[in-house]
Amino acid sequence: MTIQINAGFDSGNIRLVAIEGDRVDLEIVADHLSDFYQWFHFRVSGAKGRTLTFRILNAGGAAYAFGWPGYKARWSADREAWRVTDSAYADGVLSFTKAIDTDLVWFAYFAPYSMERHHDLVSRIALKPGVTHRQLGTTLDGQPLDCLTMGSGEKQVWIYARQHPGESMAEWWAEGALEKLTDPDDATAKLLREKTTLHVVPNMNPDGSRRGHLRTNAAGVNLNREWHSPTPTRSPEVLAVRNAMDETGVAFAMDIHGDEAIPANFLAGYEGIPSWTDAFGEKFYEYGRRLAAATPEFQIEQGYEKSAPGTANLSMSTNQLAERFGAVSMTLEMPFKDHDPNADPEFAWSPARCKVLAAACLDTLAGMIDEI
Ligand code: ZN
Repeated sequence: MTIQINAGFDSGNIRLVAIEGDRVDLEIVADHLSDFYQWFHFRVSGAKGRTLTFRILNAGGAAYAFGWPGYKARWSADREAWRVTDSAYADGVLSFTKAIDTDLVWFAYFAPYSMERHHDLVSRIALKPGVTHRQLGTTLDGQPLDCLTMGSGEKQVWIYARQHPGESMAEWWAEGALEKLTDPDDATAKLLREKTTLHVVPNMNPDGSRRGHLRTNAAGVNLNREWHSPTPTRSPEVLAVRNAMDETGVAFAMDIHGDEAIPANFLAGYEGIPSWTDAFGEKFYEYGRRLAAATPEFQIEQGYEKSAPGTANLSMSTNQLAERFGAVSMTLEMPFKDHDPNADPEFAWSPARCKVLAAACLDTLAGMIDEI
């Protein structure tokens, strides 16, 4: 039987270079109109009973090649359970070997979150009591940009995920957040719905998601560098969401991402914005400390360098929203690797853990909502 490699589906990304014996040489395809790449997602058929070694030959040129050491590729036979496979990175090549015992096997950078699943999620949540759905706009490929709103309080909470489409963990987190927020038996969700109005955009970048991009939309634009001046031709996704935020104001904002290199969950804040004060920043730090105390799935020791005073990049949403609205604003980064303080050798960081972390984030928000 002939081995077949295919990525012709929602969020697929791979280019076959060569198959020689049990070795399959591949390349990741760059985002359309961009140099960014790192997301891969493909299926293998015709290989049952064989042990194949996959080599991603252009891994060294990926956007965050320094993230490959310590990373393990995910595989699945049923597209529901995504386990790690032993992987190695050397001389610019990422390789992983798999003994294949099924007709079909799938590989991906992280457990994928398809646009079909997105529509299932949005429709399911929109049917819940007290939830309003709005299509905030359309993308360059003509896809809808969905927002779900719930709660009756004055404080405006905005949660938006997956500006970077290859960071599929962000939408798994959003799924967990939406399920918790609409759970009628969840006391902290009920409190949040009473004290705040919550707006959730579970996927900021449907075009990049469907195209199998790492970091950009259909025009090759990094949406998280557009928040100072979004335009209809480059970044209609950001323009639509920012306009909706301008109508409501924002008291608390969370932007959900994945990080290629750091093996832990962490937050990034708004140090360096013009309106920074220590008292304003302390609300962000307090949130992080409380989240770390609430769950072993979060920590505050590892993270990004903080911007020096006056040097914040206001094209990034977290900084823009803190400056524009005085919002307690933060970027949540989850790992492509694992949250090493609570490591799982079978699944590593996973969709199930994303959803549990989302619940902990909302519990922490509920616990300090009167201070925000
Ligand atoms: Zn990101």
